[in-house]
Amino acid sequence: MAQPDRVEVLIVGAGPTGAIAASELIAAGFSVTCLEQGDWTHRAAFKGATKDWELSAQRDWHPNPNVRGRAADYPIDVTESDVNPLMYAGVGGATILYGAHWVRALPSDFRVRTLDGVADDWPLTYEDLQPFYEDIDQQMGTAGLGDDPTYPDGEAPPLPPLPIGKIGLRAAQGMDQLGWHWWPAPNAIASKAYRGREACVRRGTCQTGCPEGAKGSADLTHWPEAIRAGVRLITGARVAEITVNAQGLADGAVYIDRDGVRHHVAASTVIVAANGVGTPRLLLMSGRDSFDHGLANSSGLVGRRLMMHPYAAVNGVYEEDLESWLGPAGQSIVSHEFYETDLSRGFVRGAKWQVMPAGGPLGNRSGYGGHAEHGDADGEPDPLAAWGPSFHEAARRTFGRSFEWGIIAEDLPDEANRVVLSDSLVDSDGLPAPKIIYKTSENTRRLLDFHLARAREAHLAAGAIETYDTPLMRDCGWHLLGTTRMGDDPETSVVDQYGRSHDIANLYIYDGSTFVTSTGQNPTATIAALTLRAVRHLIAGRRDQEVAS
Ligand SMILES: Cc1cc2nc3c(=O)[nH]c(=O)nc-3n(C[C@H](O)[C@H](O)[C@H](O)COP(=O)(O)OP(=O)(O)OC[C@H]3O[C@@H](n4cnc5c(N)ncnc54)[C@H](O)[C@@H]3O)c2cc1C
Ligand code: SF4
Repeated sequence: MAQPDRVEVLIVGAGPTGAIAASELIAAGFSVTCLEQGDWTHRAAFKGATKDWELSAQRDWHPNPNVRGRAADYPIDVTESDVNPLMYAGVGGATILYGAHWVRALPSDFRVRTLDGVADDWPLTYEDLQPFYEDIDQQMGTAGLGDDPTYPDGEAPPLPPLPIGKIGLRAAQGMDQLGWHWWPAPNAIASKAYRGREACVRRGTCQTGCPEGAKGSADLTHWPEAIRAGVRLITGARVAEITVNAQGLADGAVYIDRDGVRHHVAASTVIVAANGVGTPRLLLMSGRDSFDHGLANSSGLVGRRLMMHPYAAVNGVYEEDLESWLGPAGQSIVSHEFYETDLSRGFVRGAKWQVMPAGGPLGNRSGYGGHAEHGDADGEPDPLAAWGPSFHEAARRTFGRSFEWGIIAEDLPDEANRVVLSDSLVDSDGLPAPKIIYKTSENTRRLLDFHLARAREAHLAAGAIETYDTPLMRDCGWHLLGTTRMGDDPETSVVDQYGRSHDIANLYIYDGSTFVTSTGQNPTATIAALTLRAVRHLIAGRRDQEVAS
């Protein structure tokens, strides 16, 4: 097995968390290697400017790795899950495909046990994260408007907001009539040229990759500079195991290259940034000879408490042309009207809402991801779901004239919802695929029913002539959270608030796995802020850091 020189820090995963960690560590003078199972995705490969774009979104650029079927992704066993996890293997990770909705958690999200008597409080507060949210906004080039009254005071995003478009104006009129909160949405999309990125041209193809390079994906925002500064990024390198020495410290990782050859990279410190499914999978695959239940798992919580934000939406159809094919497919306006707990509704916690464009004729027909199962409020079949002549009729009636109120439901942690290793499915290197065991709770179902009804009201107040519900979308596992939760107590958590494993002093986890609760927000702003805070803490404490030698 090849054994290059020991690096000071080895990172697994080149998504935004790996990218942010690598950038900070190289700037602080560490030697850094990052192993990524995927590849670079060149802008020319994106189909956004081609006529078959909408078809490609249903196959080669689908967010579900099981549909794409590329060797770089690992397959996922979803036979026991209500929701399909979505992701992308490559430099930039899932930010290659993400919508770039760049939203912070709210202060209440960190204190749900104290406020609502459910789940657990986080070991940190919104105020602890705020400076890192502000710093990461600069790094990502976030566009938005400051002073949203639902947040504490703070710095505004560095770029002016993107146009909310006719759909945003129409939706806002409805919200104003009802007296409900709304605000121009923050997105990690350049509204003006920013640090080498072009301004958004509103093509609306963000979720199959941005051909303009306007979207803040980590392959653009962080990796080029990190590599120039000296980070060694090895692509096509699938990590099969994190290795541990006789002293119980992580001392590197074994990866499999494109030719199936195994290599060991020796390292003093190891950071895992492989997302809420990839990270527990790797820990469970590692150290199986020495540990009963995988690495860093004395609590038994590795893989457990998976949260994926069940998503529902209401589409409204309007009489006038709203240009609703125009992008970005980031959010136009958001609402926190029903975010906090009100027990009279029959459930705890709530959801953030966002207005999104309906897309082209095909997306307009089939919903986001191309596979939404539409039905109206009574469960009646949706005429939009039909092909043939009725498809043409529906396209004429709705194309450009409809938009979506999307609902990101807070998903409470449940130890029964988990990632385990499949005993039958393997990836292209023969490693066990993750298997997802995940059921939505009664609280979630009540929450979604309530929010769907309110979103219908919001459309009707805005003048919609018809509405269509998507009650729970199966392809909605964009947000992979909670599977190595943070906490102060090693018996009830896997890592501390800085991502350090309680069991292995030089092993860190920096991705959404560490979330204590899911919040009702798109999580990447919080994942990125947590990463920045954690890695700067690691750098500041470098002299006391226990390392493998
Ligand atoms: C279609 C889609 C839309 C989304 N939209 C939004 C949005 O609008 N707003 C928002 O906040 N979030 C959104 N998300 C979620 C967001 O993309 C993620 O939160 C974010 O990318 C997480 O960053 P990460 O670095 O922790 O993980 P990832 O981005 O998943 O990166 C992890 C990397 O690790 C690599 N890896 C995994 N296992 C191994 C291994 N064993 N060996 C080597 N490499 C490995 C993977 O290949 C991957 O590149 C979306 C996600 C998807 C899929
Ligand atoms: S709408 Fe903007 S961010 Fe989205 S793909 Fe087009 S240019 Fe990129």
